[in-house]
Amino acid sequence: MEFDFSHTGSTATAARSGCKRIGLFGSTGSIGKQTLDVIRANPDMFAAAILTAHSNVELLIEQALEFKPKVVVITDASKYQPVNDAIDQKGIIVMAGEAALEEAAAMDIYDMMMASIVGFAGLKPTLQAISTGKDIGLANKETLVVAGDVVMQLAQQKKVSIIPVDSEHSAIFQCLVGEEHNEVEKIILTASGGPFLGRKPNFLVNVKREHALQHPNWSMGAKISIDSSTLMNKGLEMIEAKWLFNLHPSQIEVVIHPQSIIHSMVQFKDNSIKAQMGLPDMKLPIQYAMAYPNRISNEFPRFNFAKSSTLTFDPPDIKTFRNLALAITAMNKGGNLPCVMNAANEIVVYGFMKNRLGFLDMTEVIEQTMDKIPFIEHPTLNEYFESDANAREYSASLINL
Ligand code: NAD
Ligand code: MG
Repeated sequence: MEFDFSHTGSTATAARSGCKRIGLFGSTGSIGKQTLDVIRANPDMFAAAILTAHSNVELLIEQALEFKPKVVVITDASKYQPVNDAIDQKGIIVMAGEAALEEAAAMDIYDMMMASIVGFAGLKPTLQAISTGKDIGLANKETLVVAGDVVMQLAQQKKVSIIPVDSEHSAIFQCLVGEEHNEVEKIILTASGGPFLGRKPNFLVNVKREHALQHPNWSMGAKISIDSSTLMNKGLEMIEAKWLFNLHPSQIEVVIHPQSIIHSMVQFKDNSIKAQMGLPDMKLPIQYAMAYPNRISNEFPRFNFAKSSTLTFDPPDIKTFRNLALAITAMNKGGNLPCVMNAANEIVVYGFMKNRLGFLDMTEVIEQTMDKIPFIEHPTLNEYFESDANAREYSASLINL
């Protein structure tokens, strides 16, 4: 495989020509807030041109008043009025509803989208941004899990860069800079193992959401925290890597590394392994994606080798954490299966958060949904949407949502 850096030119040009305008989709989330931290710390380099949120009106208003974007979108249309009342007079356009995300994504008022909406909801606005020729900083891994072939083909056609924000993929991306002509043997995605590392089913059966939400190394949104506790997050990341770096599934490996210091690795054909390291802090991959190909100096705490002497590595326990095994099956089989798995996963995570099903039941429902929804080997975009809807409906019916 060869990773194609040839489409990264437009990002580089925008970075050189002054302030880069960021369309921040999902500004009130964990990635969104940290993206605003990076913008706040580098006002000469970045500005927020678009802010979007689903329902957190208070925070969205506060962010809009501070960053003065051109456009604000609140997707929960019932919350339009308070947002409009608070910021309309400031010359900011306020839009509401799901379709407004795509409308905003199509506007020629920003240079790069930071795709930090969680879940399937991020797919359509990201596709719209790519169609309009915008570079993408991609946090939303579900976009590639659902329709990776369509997304990457469109990006290639539109000569758009998709720069990963997910820390593992940012690590791989950083390891590949300067290696355009060198063959990659495999990539090694590191995984912390989540809060239940080393636990067995007899423990997991009683796990509750409060416990699952406590990640040892990262502070993240609820959905990805649950995904990390089931190892589904690593499965989604394997599929994300397959599309981002144009890999065969057999070239993608996972290793448990509980310290989260090595963010991932690339092994080349000469058996040389490159790793990208650092203390776990999402602001680093966020600012790397925004400033690529440049690096920005910062005051983040530094890793101290003298103090942290132990880095450990173990294979994942996919017999216990069967979500990872399901994701590997989906990655290998391809077609609409990753999309179906992702939809069922979004439903069961929602159900688990509402205490509607147990921790281990999540895997059962995902598996049954993957078995039930008809397989399509080469889906169109519409067939992906249909597969997503059918999988949601079926998995929700299994847990009486
Ligand atoms: P989060 O739950 O903290 O924030 C999600 C954002 O999306 C919020 O701004 C919310 O308003 C918006 N949103 C939610 N549902 C929506 C909908 N239906 N329509 C429109 N907007 C909606 O999530 P997060 O942890 O910031 O994660 C965002 C994405 O980044 C996820 O795909 C996640 O997998 C990925 N990611 C996150 C981290 C992390 O450290 N948080 C790390 C790597 C990748
Ligand atoms: Mg990650």
